[in-house]
Amino acid sequence: MIETIPATFEVLDDRFRGVGGDFRIERLHADCRWAEGPVYLPAARSLVWSDIPNDRMLRWDETTGAVGVFRHPCGYANGHTLDAEGRIISCEHGGRRVSRTEHDGSVTTIADRCDGKRFNSPNDAVVHGDGSIWFTDPAYGIDSDYEGYRADSEIGGCHVYRIDPAGRQLTRVAAGFDRPNGLAFSADEQRLYITDSARRQLRVFTVNGDLTLAGGDVLATCTAGTFDGVRLDHGGRIWAAAGDGLHCLDPDGTLIGKLLVPETVANLTFGGPRRNRLFICATSSLYSIMVNVTAAVPARP
Ligand code: MG
Repeated sequence: MIETIPATFEVLDDRFRGVGGDFRIERLHADCRWAEGPVYLPAARSLVWSDIPNDRMLRWDETTGAVGVFRHPCGYANGHTLDAEGRIISCEHGGRRVSRTEHDGSVTTIADRCDGKRFNSPNDAVVHGDGSIWFTDPAYGIDSDYEGYRADSEIGGCHVYRIDPAGRQLTRVAAGFDRPNGLAFSADEQRLYITDSARRQLRVFTVNGDLTLAGGDVLATCTAGTFDGVRLDHGGRIWAAAGDGLHCLDPDGTLIGKLLVPETVANLTFGGPRRNRLFICATSSLYSIMVNVTAAVPARP
């Protein structure tokens, strides 16, 4: 039997009315030290996520509900996403790299340094419609031996980067963060949202035609704990991991509602065959709930 808890959708603004779903949240697994990085694999009917301090990736099978170890050790992997070919792109604290799991199961390094200096500990990634990979590089994985290997920063700062579609060219696209963390594009890829978990901020950038970024204003400051992972739904609403659950923000930055979760949330993703099921990584647990919003679908040519 799966444990369930009552679902509380807290409405803070009329714009959140109608956003709801199941009456109960399912706790699909509860044996992690720090759950992170959920990625839904449509073709495999599975959800893969990280349990960072245990240096393992876990996999939940949607068809049976079984959970097993997907990879261990896994380079203290944190965030994951899929590229256009359905391959898993992973941010690894231990390897201090962004890697790709190929269709044959081998793991390839896509990037591990900038100007000859090793990254700190890539945290979370998104893939742009052109195939470029955008990721954040805070220092959580080198701050201690808990989530990686303690080390000094070689780069000397925590920035945001883009890897070109061919995987050859690395560009620093944003600086001025303390701990850049979750990131997500708007459906039209005209905006990029990036959280700074040390400052509890959500910032918004304009994506220029040449894929440089402009702006970077603080759109919201977290009112409970801090922001971590972030995803958008089909209405452009921003769903952000926070200390008391998921915070839902209007594109203008207003906190319009929350889905309360009993543990500190690190990350989330939309999944399921119809992209209307939230998967929530929260401290020890993987939670799930079907909702009546769906993932933002990129408007790609
Ligand atoms: Mg994160």
